[in-house]
Amino acid sequence: MTSNQLAQDQLYKIRHSLAHVMAQAVLEMFPTGKIAIGPPIEDGFYYDFDLPRPLTPEDLTALEKRMREILQGRHTFQRRELSAAEAKTLFAGQPYKIELIEGLEKGGVDEYGEPTDAPPVISTYKHDTFEDLCKGPHVANLGEINPAAFKLMKIAGAYWRGDEKRPQLQRIYGTAWQTAEELADYLHRLEEAEKRDHRKLGKELDLFSTEPDMLGGGLILWHPNGGLMRHLAEEFCRKEHLAQGYDLVYSPHIGKSTLWQTSGHLTFYKENMYAPLDIDGQEYYLKPMNCPFHIMIYQDKLRSYRDLPLRFAEWGTVYRYERSGVLHGLLRVRGFTQDDAHHFVQPEKMPEEIDFALNFCLRILRSFGFTDFTAYLSTRPESKAVGELADWHTAEAALEAALKRANLPYEIDPGGGAFYGPKIDLKINDALGREWQLSTIQFDFNLPERFDITYIGEDGQPHRPFMVHRALLGSMERFFGVLIEHYGGAFPVWLSPVQAVLIPIADRHVAYCDDVAKRLKAAGLRVEVDASSERMGHKIRLAQKQKIPYMLVVGDKEQAAHQVAVRLRSGEDLGPLEVSVFEKMALEAVVTKL
Ligand SMILES: [Zn+2]
Ligand SMILES: [Zn+2]
Repeated sequence: MTSNQLAQDQLYKIRHSLAHVMAQAVLEMFPTGKIAIGPPIEDGFYYDFDLPRPLTPEDLTALEKRMREILQGRHTFQRRELSAAEAKTLFAGQPYKIELIEGLEKGGVDEYGEPTDAPPVISTYKHDTFEDLCKGPHVANLGEINPAAFKLMKIAGAYWRGDEKRPQLQRIYGTAWQTAEELADYLHRLEEAEKRDHRKLGKELDLFSTEPDMLGGGLILWHPNGGLMRHLAEEFCRKEHLAQGYDLVYSPHIGKSTLWQTSGHLTFYKENMYAPLDIDGQEYYLKPMNCPFHIMIYQDKLRSYRDLPLRFAEWGTVYRYERSGVLHGLLRVRGFTQDDAHHFVQPEKMPEEIDFALNFCLRILRSFGFTDFTAYLSTRPESKAVGELADWHTAEAALEAALKRANLPYEIDPGGGAFYGPKIDLKINDALGREWQLSTIQFDFNLPERFDITYIGEDGQPHRPFMVHRALLGSMERFFGVLIEHYGGAFPVWLSPVQAVLIPIADRHVAYCDDVAKRLKAAGLRVEVDASSERMGHKIRLAQKQKIPYMLVVGDKEQAAHQVAVRLRSGEDLGPLEVSVFEKMALEAVVTKL
């Protein structure tokens, strides 16, 4: 076990134990309260309660105080096994526990009501005065828990067993760590994440909006600032694709049911697709993927081994069903544009094609400022996999070899591949160390077979190509969500909707500012003049809030010397620079994507 796993284990026990301690404190506060379930979770724990009144923030403070007192008792956890009848007597008056005990008695579910294969054993753990239905593990003694390293975070509503027809309970979330420093660190990361929330910044920087009532959930409106950024990103990527031998294609948003039957989507993917449209008595479906269209383009003529690899790329807008409860800003949506591509490859050329795709993905991601990657190699699913075992092994080996050659740290996800082939998922780590999945590179043995596509080989005979499905940034929506949070809205100069704002100190400097703006615009920079009658300090604050990279302040001195006083959005002051010097500096930042 690594020290990291040990820490995780100890944290798990701390969090689990604190859930018990919290339930004790809550029952002391509300002797008639009912307790439901209280598992450890990532970063902390929660417990669900049915209480005579709504909890308040003051209650949380009081509960925390009482929990600290309980911890000082250094109580140990005593385990015992009970028969169902004994357990029901012990938890008489606790209907949620009785229901859980009945579940345990029948088998198949654990003490949280989750499915399990474990044999039904009913056990409890008791510390101090509180005994709970539980299978552990906990800390040996409450003295192991640092009373300064936990915090009750919030109160939320939660339905019993997640079922909205069952009673609504009050859930208290807590976070717990080994040291007070770790707790402070966690709270700081939360605060940073909140400041960087792409939904909040999306509004402040006027990048995009969603409107569930009138428009519908999970559908994104790109505003001019966001639209410009997306255009810049796509334009850059399209040029790179063309330079690397991709062909750009376009395909429709809908296709006949026969297409989706052939592709297998109506068999394997229907729950993610929307209900069909009726056109002249025929069923059409909104596309959840672009693959079948690209295959049809491939099929339109006879292909030779000399034409391969063929790489069709499309910024294709697809629609997939997501439950309304999981929709989240730009990160979980129902309509999105994938930067999708399909490579048609001779089977024996797959290794170099994977190398190519992986290196291309890494290069583009680095261009957006991401440098910290983790890769996952997902291998053949045991139960459901099409194609020859030998092909799978070749493909997995090719993927793994490519990861090694690219010098990427990677983990194997055994059995995590798609039914049609193994894949590499690339995740980036953002400025807060959070992991986001962006690129995916997938092998496919299945669709070429289903659509019966071929190429004429050197031997003059038809052969079956393999396919690579590849999304690079993933979806433009999700990618922008990640980009906004990574940069906290302070985008690199090349992507900033406004790159520089000229700030005249007085009216008599406006004409000079207009001249400078004209010159910088002619050089290709996006520049504005803030000629409003506000004070300079106010204009600077406004520009800083808009996260504009350069603020160019102009007074008498600058005007006389053909200069601008350059301030960065970080607050750094570069002092007066010749306009030509600033222009060179800004253009350099654009070219180098800083
Ligand atoms: Zn427990
Ligand atoms: Zn595809």
